[in-house]
Parts: sequence; structure tokens; C-alpha cells
Amino acid sequence: MRGTLVVGNWKMNGALVANSRLLERLASAWRPTDPRTLAVCVPAPYLAQAQAALRDSRVAWGAQDVSEHAAGAYTGEVSASMVGEFGSRFAIVGHSERRRWHHESDALVGAKARAALAAGLTPIACVGETLDERERGQTKAIVARQIDALIDAVRADVARLVVAYEPVWAIGTGRTATPAQAQDVHAALRAQLGDAGAAEVSILYGGSVKSANAAALFAMPDIDGALVGGASLDADEFLLIGRA
Ligand code: PEP
Repeated sequence: MRGTLVVGNWKMNGALVANSRLLERLASAWRPTDPRTLAVCVPAPYLAQAQAALRDSRVAWGAQDVSEHAAGAYTGEVSASMVGEFGSRFAIVGHSERRRWHHESDALVGAKARAALAAGLTPIACVGETLDERERGQTKAIVARQIDALIDAVRADVARLVVAYEPVWAIGTGRTATPAQAQDVHAALRAQLGDAGAAEVSILYGGSVKSANAAALFAMPDIDGALVGGASLDADEFLLIGRA
């Protein structure tokens, strides 16, 4: 269901003491009257810590990846049901860093989204083009291919996804898509999801979102919030984005 959502992706950052400060600040500062959903996706070893710190707050939490398998001989993997056991609401799947460094294919990302849904999690499925693909004018074809694979994988459950449009060239670079560039892609994604019966999916923008640029992005009609990397490690900055 479409709603406004600001999600932090801590990536492979954190340590118990620093996490505790960050989580406590979010838990105490995010008020029931704040209209958006605020969430953090933490490294799997910190899910228990996130659950303990946030369970009585309005802040949700989740993981950054799940296995496509339910259980078994997959050393090093973390299943969606394990993530769910810690009260998680979300699991990011198909982040460009996983597509790039772990060679995750569109089909694998679809299988991970399916596994997350089967465990009762909301997958935040990431799509986005590289700079080279954008410069070749392939942006919409690339994200359409990535979304098609997700639709194929989850079929009737497509309305249960959250989608994050994250142009690879904007992630961690300080170079944000302009609101108009992002809106153009979001509108195309919404049309494609609408054809699959899911026009009301929340579509987040991700890529160097900060408090200084968030409001202009959120003013766009098809941008429903943000997936925030680096800036989510600073509680006050993340809260400002959440309220932008
Ligand atoms: C991300 O990791 O999903 C992301 C958008 O990172 P950043 O905000 O640091 O660009």
C-alpha cells in the first residue's frame, strides 16, 4: 500500500556503542505525530540490538539482504525467517552494491523478494541504472527489465513490494538525481507497476539524499520517500530527512 517512508541503509557500518546512541536518539525523537514511517535497515548481527532499542518506539527496522533459500546448507547466508524472528518489518533486496559486488542477477533479486514476502517481510526492492547506461539513454529500459523480473518472481504479491529507485551513479557520490530526473523514472515505474495491478506501491528515491535536498525530492508526485545511506548514520540528519 502506498505510504510515505524514509528508510536508512546503514550498509556495513556500525558498532554496538555507536549503534546504541543512534538508535536511542531515533527512538526518543521520532514522535507519534510524525506522519511518515521511519525505519533503519541494519547489518544482520545488529537486528537484536535494533529490536531491543526500537520495539517500544515508532521506528521500524529490517535487514539489508536475505537469502533466496528458506533454510539449509548455505554457509554465511541469513534467511528471511531469521530476519523476521527479530521483529523486522523490512528487508532490502537487490541493492546495487549487492548486484555489483555479489553479482546478483535480476532473477536472484526476484527470488529474494519472494523469500522475504514468504516470511512476512516487506521487501524494499532496489532498481537503478549505471552512469554508462544513463548516458546511453538506457535508464528506463534497465529499470523496466529489473521491475519485470520482480513482477515475474512475486506475481500476485507485487502490491506488497516497496520499490526504491536508486541510480547507481548517485549512491554515495554526493551527486543526487534532480527532482525532475527522479520523477521521470518514478512515473515510468508507477505506470509499469500499474499495468501489473500495483499502482499504489510506494516508490522511494535513493542516492545521496540529505536534509538539504530531501524536500525538493519529496515534493514530486511519484516520490514517496527515500532510501538513505550515508546520511542515515547521523541521527539528527536522518530525522531532518524524515521530516522534510
Ligand atoms: C544507499 O545505500 O541505498 C544509498 C542511497 O546511499 P547514499 O544515500 O549514501 O547515496
